[in-house]
Amino acid sequence: MITFTPEQEEFRKSVARFVDTEVAPAAQALDERGEFPAALMRRIGELGWLGLRYPEKYGGADADMTTYCLLAEELARGSLSVAAAAGMQSLMGTHFIYTYGDDALRERYLVPALRGELVATFAMTEPNAGSDVANLATRAERRGDRWVLRGTKTWVTNAPVADVLTVAAKTSGERGMKNIALFLLDRRTMRGITLGKPIDKMAVRASATGEILLDDVEVPHAYLLGGEQGGAEKIGGILAEIRIMTAALSVGLARAAYEAALAYSRERVAFGKPIGEHQAIGFKLADMLAGIHAAALMTYQAAGRLDAGRPVAREAAMAKLVASETAVKVTDEAARIFASYGLAMEYPVQRYFRDARFLLPGGGTSEILRLVIGRELDWDRGTAFC
Ligand SMILES: Cc1cc2nc3c(=O)[nH]c(=O)nc-3n(C[C@H](O)[C@H](O)[C@H](O)COP(=O)(O)OP(=O)(O)OC[C@H]3O[C@@H](n4cnc5c(N)ncnc54)[C@H](O)[C@@H]3O)c2cc1C
Repeated sequence: MITFTPEQEEFRKSVARFVDTEVAPAAQALDERGEFPAALMRRIGELGWLGLRYPEKYGGADADMTTYCLLAEELARGSLSVAAAAGMQSLMGTHFIYTYGDDALRERYLVPALRGELVATFAMTEPNAGSDVANLATRAERRGDRWVLRGTKTWVTNAPVADVLTVAAKTSGERGMKNIALFLLDRRTMRGITLGKPIDKMAVRASATGEILLDDVEVPHAYLLGGEQGGAEKIGGILAEIRIMTAALSVGLARAAYEAALAYSRERVAFGKPIGEHQAIGFKLADMLAGIHAAALMTYQAAGRLDAGRPVAREAAMAKLVASETAVKVTDEAARIFASYGLAMEYPVQRYFRDARFLLPGGGTSEILRLVIGRELDWDRGTAFC
């Protein structure tokens, strides 16, 4: 059973109101134009929601993971693009600045990013290093009190509009994960950072994604976030949150598709009755609802474990695996219930169907998650529930 505190219930209601009045009505046009939702991001910042997970000292709200998941779920119900952009900014984009940056960096970058006044992102993936992080080729070389970065990052969320990026680079040439370090790059002031190819993609079109080229970018030593090594562990330290957040996004998107399919199955008549009264369609809706319910239970159970300070790597991976695959299935079934109209651009169901694909690679592919879950199995405890 999922139980939320009265404050969490209230918070969900206020996000839901915002989504129904400001996000959902804008979602279709943003998707069609492939336009970064700049105004909505500023609003989300003004509302204080980009700072949910950060201390009040920096303008945050010190909220728990459960509350953060409620935000992610509700935003995704209105627009997965908006939710993805906000999720990137409020987790990966700012986490490393807060955790490893000094006070000057926090003041200069964290505080305005939490207010929605600058766009922050995270760049690890490269053309030849996605799941295989050990294969990163971006190099950082120390020259006195500076570092010089060279390499190519790709699939960077918010790349075309990002002001600051946390970049993963290797501080020595050998293969492996030990020598990965994290650097904060300011695109507005540092030379040598250019945009590469924009990625024209079919999912989360309003969350702009692209390539970033680093051509001998000089970075002051203070912008090295947390030492010359151990970047992989630092990223690992936030991986459970990323996976649980992605699971919450999946639940939100699946709910939107289910609700659209349910409404359509009540109004569309075939063979003399609403299609929802044909058992085949009723069964689809039942499976969709049961799947969403299971995904939500796993997501909030994992969030609750994280909030309680319990080990959560396996639960986070399982929640993300089940919830993202559920979102793909539910959005597919919703499109089938709409039949021809599921293909029509005027209905949002085609967007849900497309957007669900983003949830598969984001936070680790299903194959990688199965590896993680397998590795985390505690054979002595058998199936080890809860
Ligand atoms: C919309 C979007 C936004 C993104 N935003 C960001 C971002 O902001 N920053 C960032 O750094 N990255 C981002 N990414 C990149 C994302 O994290 C990677 O795409 C992801 O890690 C997978 O890497 P890949 O696509 O190179 O696939 P690959 O790693 O090349 O995998 C290809 C296939 O092989 C499988 N595979 C790989 N290794 C194994 C294995 N050991 N065992 C079994 N199967 C395996 C995979 O599961 C997959 O099916 C984004 C991706 C998308 C789609």
